Amino acid sequence: MRYISTRHGRAAATARAFDEILLTGLAPDGGLYVPQRLPCRAASWFKALQGLPYAEIATRVTQPFLGGAVPATEWRRMIEAAYRPFTHPAVAPLRQLDAGLWLLELFHGPTLAFKDYALQLVGPLFDRVLRKRRRRITIIGATSGDTGSAAIEACRDREAIDIFMLYPAGRVSEVQRRQMTTVPARNVHAVAVEGTFDDCQDLVKAMFADAAFRDELGLSAVNSINWARIMAQIVYYVAAAVALGAPARKVAFAVPTGNFGNVYAAHIARRLGLPIAGLAIATNRNDILTRFFARGTMSLGAVEPTISPSMDIQVSSNFERLFFELVGESGPKTKAAFRHFRATGTLPTTRQQWQVARALFQAERVDDDETRATMAETYRATGTLIDPHTAVALAAARRVKHDRAAPMVVVATAHPAKFPEAVMATCGVQPEIPPRLANLMALPERRVNLPNDLGAVQRYVRDHARLGAAV
Ligand SMILES: *Cc1c(COP(=O)(O)O)cnc(C)c1O
Repeated sequence: MRYISTRHGRAAATARAFDEILLTGLAPDGGLYVPQRLPCRAASWFKALQGLPYAEIATRVTQPFLGGAVPATEWRRMIEAAYRPFTHPAVAPLRQLDAGLWLLELFHGPTLAFKDYALQLVGPLFDRVLRKRRRRITIIGATSGDTGSAAIEACRDREAIDIFMLYPAGRVSEVQRRQMTTVPARNVHAVAVEGTFDDCQDLVKAMFADAAFRDELGLSAVNSINWARIMAQIVYYVAAAVALGAPARKVAFAVPTGNFGNVYAAHIARRLGLPIAGLAIATNRNDILTRFFARGTMSLGAVEPTISPSMDIQVSSNFERLFFELVGESGPKTKAAFRHFRATGTLPTTRQQWQVARALFQAERVDDDETRATMAETYRATGTLIDPHTAVALAAARRVKHDRAAPMVVVATAHPAKFPEAVMATCGVQPEIPPRLANLMALPERRVNLPNDLGAVQRYVRDHARLGAAV
């Protein structure tokens, strides 16, 4: 399988191999990579997955996307190793909340949020491809919380990678900070910047824009637009649907959405042939997506803080991949539209594109009050504690129209113990602290404080990255 850029389109001459799009993430023309052609699976192919372990389902689903970059037996071993440390044998278990209503628990990885499901696999994959090419890279990122720790856990102790994660000093929670600073790995650098999250992000952008520095250090990112992350996320939709009776029975999903990566993976599962009854996009007050689905115009607003902070986002980067589909996979049309979006804050869409999009997804916006009420009500009715992101999706699931014969699966993207204050305030109990979090408070921290100054940060990165030494 080969990959094309959303801003270039079908021309086969420019199609790239998997290992290349893995390492670069974003295409040179600013577009996102998508497979040139998706495989289409018959019902019998899905039926054969019934009862298989998660690692086996993951191997079968993802293998074609690698295009031979990793031999099949080794890939299977890498997948087993990636998910072995997860704290539930089913890896992504389902929990029933009501008749026809289920939670898909995606918080059994090392940082207790769904990003582990992709990053725990993408970290070793990066390392494997780099070692084969005898290359090293320096991963630099900015985080306001969850993404940083998931990326650090995925890259720790990897020979070919150094990772520097910038976060705003004093502006992340203690748990979030400790998840980054207590990792005892030589290649991990948690950097507290005297500034805001936006300052951190500006520093990262400036480092990438400095061509000499970028090349010297082999800068790279593991952000959510990387196709490999989407690929790994397709797996749990297939596994959940099959466990609930697919392909004989259709299944619906409600997904707490920010960057549109998770729900887009569900859409790809559907395009592979998985019988999906409906996909609900659930957003908090940062509702650029729900406004688009309601009114047909996508226009940028200001980011507002909510109790589901991992979805406090305005630009949903992965939406470009769906847009590419809506414009008949035209690279020039996608390029023109997203240039316009960047310049004016409004994405030009036609009524027909909007109608096609509405046939594929429903979208609901849930505010903080309804999120809290949903957490409280779920605990009262079922004894199950859910985190605020999951609650947004559950509230949306209750609102959308869907075929009642199809089970509704609410995607639980974070463990409630990651948000103890919200749980305590709504349910009146403390969530049970998983052992991984409990140890966190006792472990020694390792971090550096730097001023919000590009020169100082670049000096630190240069002095601490191992790039240049033989692999
Ligand atoms: C990242 C994140 C989301 C949003 O996922 P997207 O793929 O960006 O749409 C939702 N919930 C939690 C807990 C997250 O960490």
